[in-house]
Amino acid sequence: MLQQTTVKTVENKIKKYLKKYPNFKSYKVSNLEDLLSSWSGLGYYNRAVNLFKSVNIINQTYKGKLPNDKYKLLELPGVGNYTANAVLALGFNEKAYPIDVNIRRLITRIIDFKLTDEELETILDISFKNNKNFRNFSESMMDYSSSICKKSAPLCPKCIFKNFCRSANKKFDKNVTKKIKNQRLEFYIIKKNNLLCFIKDPNFQFYKKFLHLPSSLDKKFISHTKYDEKEKVRSFNYSITNHKFKINVFILKNSYIKYKNIQWIKNNKLEKIALPTLFKKILY
Ligand code: SF4
Repeated sequence: MLQQTTVKTVENKIKKYLKKYPNFKSYKVSNLEDLLSSWSGLGYYNRAVNLFKSVNIINQTYKGKLPNDKYKLLELPGVGNYTANAVLALGFNEKAYPIDVNIRRLITRIIDFKLTDEELETILDISFKNNKNFRNFSESMMDYSSSICKKSAPLCPKCIFKNFCRSANKKFDKNVTKKIKNQRLEFYIIKKNNLLCFIKDPNFQFYKKFLHLPSSLDKKFISHTKYDEKEKVRSFNYSITNHKFKINVFILKNSYIKYKNIQWIKNNKLEKIALPTLFKKILY
């Protein structure tokens, strides 16, 4: 969650989320729409979809208990090597080494050589003599790296590895940032009495599991829509991962739509359906 949004947003959301879903069984009375609605604002919506699928498997196959077996964990949708190792080490305190970006950076700098995650896991296994508290070991490695062996300005003079680290006191490029992609987009609010128009086959690449408002990317929809007036109602910037959008929102007045793949939703139902934050900002 923290890859996509701030600690503050997650802090507020996670409390409500855990109140609604305190354990795997609590998902039984829910559906994907409910889950997406609780997840709304946290981004990476595919993870919510995978979580929902995984929870169903855990409830049906493992009687509501998360297995502590790596191969069983890897069979769950959305669970890869890192997540399986993180669940085992951090969740069950069992022998596993989740290699996150911090641990990878720390070891790679010390030996000044790029290795695969499997090789990094082997190095950690050889180095970790205690062989007991895997949870503390992983968390301390992650925290040590993020607070001392920082991405662009490592604190080498303070570092306990400085005497044998092959990258000690090296300069690291501060300007290594993701390439930002700028894009201008129009979104359209189309009302008919107390109904609002959504599109079922959007060309906007994000939030595929949600109902979408039509946008300037939906060329087919636009070519099948006529209207009397296009009134601009709001304009704002919005970032999703490394995409920076300049969003302009228009109301299309007295419109006539000859496009089939749409869905009309009653205004008073909008609160109940799952909508990503972007669409809420467009509408309210
Ligand atoms: S000496 Fe510097 S580069 Fe090496 S591990 Fe420590 S903080 Fe990182």
